[in-house]
Amino acid sequence: MDSQDLGTDIERILVTEEQIASRLRELAADIDADYAGKDILVVGVLKGAVMVMADLARALHSHVTMDWMAVSSYGSGTQSSGVVRILKDLDADLTDRHVLIVEDIIDSGLTLSWLIANLNSRGPASVEVCTLLRKPEAAKVDIDVKYVGFDVPNEFVVGYGLDYSEKYRNVPFVATLAPHVYS
Ligand code: 5GP
Ligand code: MG
Ligand code: MG
Repeated sequence: MDSQDLGTDIERILVTEEQIASRLRELAADIDADYAGKDILVVGVLKGAVMVMADLARALHSHVTMDWMAVSSYGSGTQSSGVVRILKDLDADLTDRHVLIVEDIIDSGLTLSWLIANLNSRGPASVEVCTLLRKPEAAKVDIDVKYVGFDVPNEFVVGYGLDYSEKYRNVPFVATLAPHVYS
């Protein structure tokens, strides 16, 4: 693979930079309205949610505290293992806090349902979820995701924080990869 040229690795753009920016402003307005007068503890799930966190947090007018958690579910491949491990826990105490989990993508929903249960066990006032992307499988799982950016087809996507073997996170849009990347 020619690592000098991201461009030839991209197959198809699914969500453009402009679409992401404008959708995140809409979601931020919804969140501000829903949390009026409340402080929000925004929990970003590393590493994929870094871009969403940065742009969503800046679009919010609410008082926000940002914290981060790192969990592992996929390893370096493209298949969900169903096994979730905490690689980095939160610094914050969740007691009586309004927690908003920020995710890059929900696929099987395994990671998220585990995370919601884990955070709920720490005595928060509320736990809600905001994800930039959602795949069709996620709709079958019984998790209440209050804020969804875009529904995307069941394809492996990269960009805007999402990686393939730790690459492509810096691609500013969401796209599929050309077949030669995987071979
Ligand atoms: P789930 O547990 O919902 O199946 O997967 C959640 C995690 O898997 C996401 O936070 C992300 O790290 C990874 N993931 C799921 N689908 C994709 C995808 O299409 N592209 C990338 N890069 N990661 C994905
Ligand atoms: Mg994620
Ligand atoms: Mg990944």
